[in-house]
Amino acid sequence: MHPDKKSLRMSMVIKRNAMSPVEVREKSASVRERLLSLEPVTESTCFLLYLPIKNEVDTWPLLQMLLQKGKEVFAPCCRPWQTGRMDFFRVQDRSELRPGFCGIPEPRPAKENIFRNHVSSVAIVPGVAFDELGYRLGFGQGFYDRYLSALSGPKPLLAGLAYEFQIVKGLPADPWDVPMHFVVTEERVVAGATEYSS
Ligand code: ADP
Ligand code: MG
Repeated sequence: MHPDKKSLRMSMVIKRNAMSPVEVREKSASVRERLLSLEPVTESTCFLLYLPIKNEVDTWPLLQMLLQKGKEVFAPCCRPWQTGRMDFFRVQDRSELRPGFCGIPEPRPAKENIFRNHVSSVAIVPGVAFDELGYRLGFGQGFYDRYLSALSGPKPLLAGLAYEFQIVKGLPADPWDVPMHFVVTEERVVAGATEYSS
């Protein structure tokens, strides 16, 4: 693994933990508005959505809005028996979610609700930092890299959510890192270097 990833991860997490609840709420609202103004997002009927911990961009209101619009929403559930592996399961109400791995709110891993990649979807991805090519730094266990690279079928449109301070120049990337198509912050949409083709 690239040696610079660890120190950047730590300094970014410290910065994000220091945000006030008001700052998290206001910036998350701006990120959400901008995300929902993007045509590929409004047109999609199927979403893979993370739920926040530790001052990550708040996606609870987004979950509510997507469900109200009748979209299909799936949230990740980590596999307790396999490091760095997760699956996505359908969520129809926020009350179905319970704290799981690392305290992350997770759906119940019921087989019949597992995400099968048959239609093109939008994946809304958390990150500790992103760069201007769409590269992403996660918590360091490669959950999204593994999940996205193993996914067969139409590729989801990959949308990272972050605060502006999490956008850095030239993130150290490893060969397995899956870049985002774009990253939305409270100030702009950062278009990644990878064109979207499902
Ligand atoms: P993160 O993306 O969470 O910041 P890294 O990119 O550093 O974390 O990846 C963490 C670990 O996950 C690495 O040690 C790497 O070997 C493993 N990993 C990532 N993607 C894959 C993959 N597609 N298959 C197997 N292992 C992977
Ligand atoms: Mg990675």
